[in-house]
Amino acid sequence: MSVQLDSYLEGAWKSGEGAPRSLINPTTEQELARIVSVSASLRDAMAHGREVGGANLRKLSFAARGELLETMAKVLHDAREELIEVAIQNGGNTRKDAKFDIDGGTAVLAHYAYLAKQFGEQAWIVEDEPVEIYRGAKIRAEHVLVPRRGLAIHINAFNFPAWGMLGKAAVSLLAGMPVLCKPATSTAWLAHRIFTLLLDANCFPAGSFQLLMGSAGDMLDHAGPQDVIAFTGSQGVGTTIKTHPQVIAAGTRVNLEADSLNAAVIGPDVESGSELFDLVIRDLVTEITQKAGQKCTATRRVLVPESALESVREVLFDRLSAIASQTGDPADKAVRMGPLTSKDQLADARAGITKLLADTELVHGDPERSGGFVGVEAGKGYFLEPIVLQAKPGTVMSADASFHQHEVFAPVTTLLPYDGELESAAKIVGLGSGSLVTTVYTDDRKWLAGAVAELGPYLGRLVVANEKIANASMSPGCVFPVANHGGPGRAGGGAELGGVHGMSLYMQRVAVQGGASQLARLLGK
Ligand code: NAP
Repeated sequence: MSVQLDSYLEGAWKSGEGAPRSLINPTTEQELARIVSVSASLRDAMAHGREVGGANLRKLSFAARGELLETMAKVLHDAREELIEVAIQNGGNTRKDAKFDIDGGTAVLAHYAYLAKQFGEQAWIVEDEPVEIYRGAKIRAEHVLVPRRGLAIHINAFNFPAWGMLGKAAVSLLAGMPVLCKPATSTAWLAHRIFTLLLDANCFPAGSFQLLMGSAGDMLDHAGPQDVIAFTGSQGVGTTIKTHPQVIAAGTRVNLEADSLNAAVIGPDVESGSELFDLVIRDLVTEITQKAGQKCTATRRVLVPESALESVREVLFDRLSAIASQTGDPADKAVRMGPLTSKDQLADARAGITKLLADTELVHGDPERSGGFVGVEAGKGYFLEPIVLQAKPGTVMSADASFHQHEVFAPVTTLLPYDGELESAAKIVGLGSGSLVTTVYTDDRKWLAGAVAELGPYLGRLVVANEKIANASMSPGCVFPVANHGGPGRAGGGAELGGVHGMSLYMQRVAVQGGASQLARLLGK
């Protein structure tokens, strides 16, 4: 039976008025839940967050806020099985995909709970050592971070309803900023269930965590100068938010995590049959098919030395065929890939493949396959089997090529044959106009040293893999709370997580200037 998912604003559950939006099971196409957007102005709810929630949070030390995060992680861990079931039904996640999202979220909570222990009882974080303001001067300057007095407005994408919500909330609650979270509507059931569990367990102080279901309403009209908007989603919506007149007028801080044409670069020394070659294939299969390719960090472009093209194609296609035959109802434990999360998502993916075909050939998979999925009624569900395209000759170095322009948010990747030269690899990666992550596979140290300098400017994260770590490596799409998440240009220009670095998004950096002993007394050094 379909449930109604309400918003939680100003300390109470609120249902909206007007036409409901349905949340659909993407395997069966049955309605699971409904959301009616709140039509009243959000001005008071936002003020409640800033005034009541902010004050309540700042009464607590960093260590006490860290304890809240620890309790949140525990509450969610205890409810893990129930949450996995919701993710399977509403997100079309396999059990493994659901765990990736939910455990990823609790891991961020646990990590920031652990970090909190180092900050002591003061209301700020000292960032660096005092420095003379000029050589020989008695006056010093020192940078400290203090919680901003506004509201952290979190607008999340549909693909990680748990990790997206908890990853952002952990950092801002520890930093001392209250949260208003707006999950993406199509998969919002999981975010709603998580919020309800945390609320019922009394995990956060009054006003410090509010939930807005459905549309954003007039939220941006009330953005303030101390607020922070942290958005994850498409470049188009990100631009709308960044250029909203009130956001510009108020000077609201905005962090965008948007589209990304991540790459895997296979070095010229990687030999077929080596452990490193096996790692390349293993990572590619994971990064094409995990969460049915609906991952911001999924590998969209694979740079393959021309000499290795045949062997990569042969082994990769073989492994992807195995997954195509085990694609279906994610509730079935034998299934390795589930559906896309919505009908619109499937239509977008197919349209995106058509766009990429202007500069590529289809070399693996059938974008129109509509039947034969494990445990699924014929013609039902939003399934797409893994698709591999290959750049047409002469297109790889072209800035206008569709595969350097357009992200297909689905199990789709493009092989880009190249000459194996570092300069070519850097140019091709850079044509993606900024990515979250790129992985370089090579045992050639000189090549790798060049890769850091040449690829680095286009990336938020560079993963390097060689034969030695081939067995211990984690697939590059895993985002860890200790490492920066974000990327330049098309990827939004944002930066989240990265341990303490991530907290600075929700804090004001103040250069405190004064006498050396005065600063030492004041800031505790
Ligand atoms: P989307 O359509 O841009 O939506 C993202 C969020 O923005 C949703 O919560 C959506 O709400 C909301 N929204 C839509 N219009 C809005 C407006 N005018 N004002 C305020 N909020 C608005 O993206 P999506 O389809 O959910 O996610 C897929 C995209 O996210 C992909 O492009 C992917 O690359 C990107 N992504 C990036 C990262 C990253 O870390 N870089 C991570 C995950 C996903 P509704 O759902 O209610 O429309």
